[in-house]
Amino acid sequence: MPSLRFAVIGAGMAGILSAVKLAEAGYDGVTVYEKADRPGGTWRENTYPGLACDVPSHLYSYSFALNPGWSHLFSPGPEIQSYLEDVARRYGVEEMVRYGDEVVGLTWTDGRWQLETASGHRDEVDVVIAATGVLHHPKMPVIDGLESFAGRAFHSARWDHSTELEGARVGIIGTGSTAVQITSAIVDRVGSLSLFQRTAQWIAPAENPPYPEEVRSGFRADPASLEELHRTLSSLFEGFSASVVNAESAQMATLAEACRVNLETSVVDPELRARLRPDYRAGCKRLVISPDFYRAIQHPHAELVTEAIDRIEPGGVRTADGRLHELDVLVLATGFHVDAFLRPIEVSGRDGRTLAQAWAARPEAYLALSVPDFPNLFLVNGPNGPVGNFSLIEVAELQVGYILKLAAWLAGGTGRQLSASHPALEAFEADRVAAAANTVWATGCRSWYLDDRGIPAVWPWTFTRFRQVMAEPDLDAYDRVG
Ligand code: NAP
Repeated sequence: MPSLRFAVIGAGMAGILSAVKLAEAGYDGVTVYEKADRPGGTWRENTYPGLACDVPSHLYSYSFALNPGWSHLFSPGPEIQSYLEDVARRYGVEEMVRYGDEVVGLTWTDGRWQLETASGHRDEVDVVIAATGVLHHPKMPVIDGLESFAGRAFHSARWDHSTELEGARVGIIGTGSTAVQITSAIVDRVGSLSLFQRTAQWIAPAENPPYPEEVRSGFRADPASLEELHRTLSSLFEGFSASVVNAESAQMATLAEACRVNLETSVVDPELRARLRPDYRAGCKRLVISPDFYRAIQHPHAELVTEAIDRIEPGGVRTADGRLHELDVLVLATGFHVDAFLRPIEVSGRDGRTLAQAWAARPEAYLALSVPDFPNLFLVNGPNGPVGNFSLIEVAELQVGYILKLAAWLAGGTGRQLSASHPALEAFEADRVAAAANTVWATGCRSWYLDDRGIPAVWPWTFTRFRQVMAEPDLDAYDRVG
């Protein structure tokens, strides 16, 4: 039995996966550190009305724990949270997790990681797997007067369930996937809804049919059919990945046309339609998928506000035209600090080099998972990895498979330390940045995919290539120490 000791940081989708796979590989020294009191990550933190995953549920599932019981093509958030909790329980992950204790420090000393938590607990491990998430730290908008608002204001990922929505005058800032889901979910219940749009979004239409009980029992009776469905969806998405990385592909043109037709045929008022029409290409921003957003925004008591926000006052939002939009509730669906990987954990690697120093310009990792001078620290869903409209579970499964191969090398006794070499990271970054220029994400829009230079901070190649690269580590790309 290999004698490595592991710390996994985070008990979200990727942390649960890491723990399951480490146990399956026979490692018994695994502790999962989770700052909250439950697993689930983003599905625990986000509880806003309308929360769902716009990746089909039968694809957004662990391949080893397919779920015949998904209620819908795109199942709601609480169902995904229950699924993750269920997997964590069934696969023995619960017993590995230390809840309610946040990792605050990681220090590489004498060939091992010294880990420290907020409670002062210490651990010493050979390998750290950081499964700390991407869309994790809420980004609050910088708007004058935000603190002066007299009603209830909160970020979408910190939904205040004590706030009464029935009959309330609700404002939502943002038009990303989150704001769109919230708008559709609450428009019928609120007194009025003002959606503050800074940038219009292309909306890809997609119905969300339920799976009738007979279909679900069919999946239960025939698990092979479920595997087949998972495979089919996976290859569909793999095809989509080939189109987004080639902005001029025929599939991108088809997608753009579907979004255009959706807008033109769904929105009756030409003036509203014009204000909802983006001036950039479909897919440039993370595509928003919704069956009913256009219906919601045309609801008699919904208003699309396209005047810029000037400031926030106790009574509501004042726009640049001088109008006060009076509100009881203000939802900030303004996204996340997407470059905060691992942070605020203080990480000190080889020769005292800190992650803050290594990432002073921006986060970078070889193949999105290893940082030079930080041996035996591997990231799942790390910087510049595949994040665009894919199943992040599939991404994480490939990454964890790769990390397990590195761990096997470490456990094999040939050497005890592995971190990407500086030349390997430099070459990877040069190729990545060059390829990013051909993607649809670089066709001229503001989005969270772009780094501080305006370069898409994502995997710019096909998913097929990602699958191939993850299949077998190239150990020559690593500094190996015995
Ligand atoms: P987001 O896509 O980053 O959108 C943030 C929105 O807030 C944008 O419309 C942005 O406008 C606006 N905004 C930010 N600061 C503002 C300010 N100061 N004034 C006015 N508007 C401001 O965030 P998100 O909607 O939470 O989604 C983040 C990601 O989470 C998604 O892209 C997706 O990957 C994931 N997600 C997935 C699902 C799913 O179903 N799978 C659901 C929700 C979220 P600009 O466009 O002008 O910047």
